[in-house]
Amino acid sequence: TIRTRVAPSPTGDPHLGTAYIALFNYCFAKQQGGEFVLRIEDTDQVRSTAESEQAIMDSLRWLGLEWDHGPDVGGEFGPYRQSERSDLYKKYAHQLVDDGKAFYCFATSEELDKMREEQMAEGLRPKYDGRGLNHTDDEIKANLAAGKPYVIRMKIPSEGTFKFNDYLRDEIEIPWENVDMQVLLKADGFPTYFLANVVDDHHMQISHIFRGEEWINSAPKLLKLYEDFGWEAPVLGHLPLLRNPDKSKLSKRKNPTSINYYKEMGYLPEAVLNYLGRMGWSMPDEREKFTLNEMIENFDMKRVSLGGPVFDVDKLSWLNGMWIRENLTDEQLIQRFVDWKFNGEMLAKVLPEAKARINTLSDLVDLAGHFVGGIPTYDPALLTAGKADEDVIRQALQFFVWQLEGLRSFDKSAIFAIAKEVATFHELKIKDFLEPIFVAITGKTSSTSVLDAMEILGSDLSRARLRVALA
Ligand code: ATP
Ligand code: GLU
Repeated sequence: TIRTRVAPSPTGDPHLGTAYIALFNYCFAKQQGGEFVLRIEDTDQVRSTAESEQAIMDSLRWLGLEWDHGPDVGGEFGPYRQSERSDLYKKYAHQLVDDGKAFYCFATSEELDKMREEQMAEGLRPKYDGRGLNHTDDEIKANLAAGKPYVIRMKIPSEGTFKFNDYLRDEIEIPWENVDMQVLLKADGFPTYFLANVVDDHHMQISHIFRGEEWINSAPKLLKLYEDFGWEAPVLGHLPLLRNPDKSKLSKRKNPTSINYYKEMGYLPEAVLNYLGRMGWSMPDEREKFTLNEMIENFDMKRVSLGGPVFDVDKLSWLNGMWIRENLTDEQLIQRFVDWKFNGEMLAKVLPEAKARINTLSDLVDLAGHFVGGIPTYDPALLTAGKADEDVIRQALQFFVWQLEGLRSFDKSAIFAIAKEVATFHELKIKDFLEPIFVAITGKTSSTSVLDAMEILGSDLSRARLRVALA
């Protein structure tokens, strides 16, 4: 069976890059009657959150990329969440030690810091020096018996070159001396990416792995681990990363990268998927507009071009317009509006406050248009028209955006707490700080409460408006 997977780490907003990688894996599998798997790589206990996992699943579903096996739907090789598979990784880490392919290291972090300092003092690139390999069996036994903390590291050849055939590239060569003796099992008993990824891809019977090119350097370690275990390795291919129009790696500093942003702005999932399908790939007849099914029918991974594909929001908007005009009947379009924001649920959120301030129903449009609008237009002078110093306001707004990025639950009391903290830090009265926020979010100087508005608009659209205000 052809089986591919996408393996996101639930550590933030659902990323366009995740959807792009998922789409290509999905098409590859589906075209050959295979299966597509969603695995959640949440071994980073500190940064992983349940909210992020849910947001990733919701986004992929919204786009129409359903998985055959996954944490919520199950599957024969589950569980599909790495935090539920810890015992398996431990077992395999120790198996590698028993087979002489991996070793214990008891070095403390102070000891390793000192090692790196000495290496740098000698003008060397800091690198783990293999000291754990020198432990005698008796030392190891004694340390284990004494309950000394340890990590398990993989053995790496000291010389020679590692070669492998990337599905999308020429043979890739990486000298072993550039590869470190990777930690497989951490002192807290949790696996690193490398161990968990290999154990899972093997047990979940993944036949092909297509992932972002940022992972190329990890290929020697992964493929060596398959060899050490005596397992057949999946086919490995590295897709080009998405780029900003200035060719730098697509990043949230320059473009919205959260799928939620595109949803809230009113892009159609078909259009977003279509546009992602044009990233490094094209239909045989070069047509720009195509459905997921058409992409699957015509898909050919070998035709992915490696030059960095540019994700251009203006192009996406143009394509989205075509989808609206050409692919939806009026009835269907009405339904899209209803599902999106023109519905009772939205009114129920907005009306309680608006009610006190409208005389006619039509007053609502001026008062609450920003709930359905995208990025408001306004005179930028309004942002800093208050009593406070312009530079201080800007700096405080920037801090505010950064703080909001880390906020797990985007509710008004949490938003207010952050605003208060940032204002205090910048010696601003909270009232003077809420004014520019008000303008950035609503495009106006008076309306209903801005904190309510932010909660209703959600994190992605709120932050996008604040970022535009700062641009
Ligand atoms: P940003 O640069 O916007 O802060 P990031 O690099 O911090 O993003 P991560 O949270 O590391 O984003 O990545 C989330 C997922 O998105 C990862 O699976 C990563 O491979 C993928 N990803 C991130 N950036 C890109 C990109 N430019 N092209 C393709 N995939 C990407
Ligand atoms: N968890 C990794 C990520 O976040 C998976 C990389 C892979 O596909 O092997 O991208």
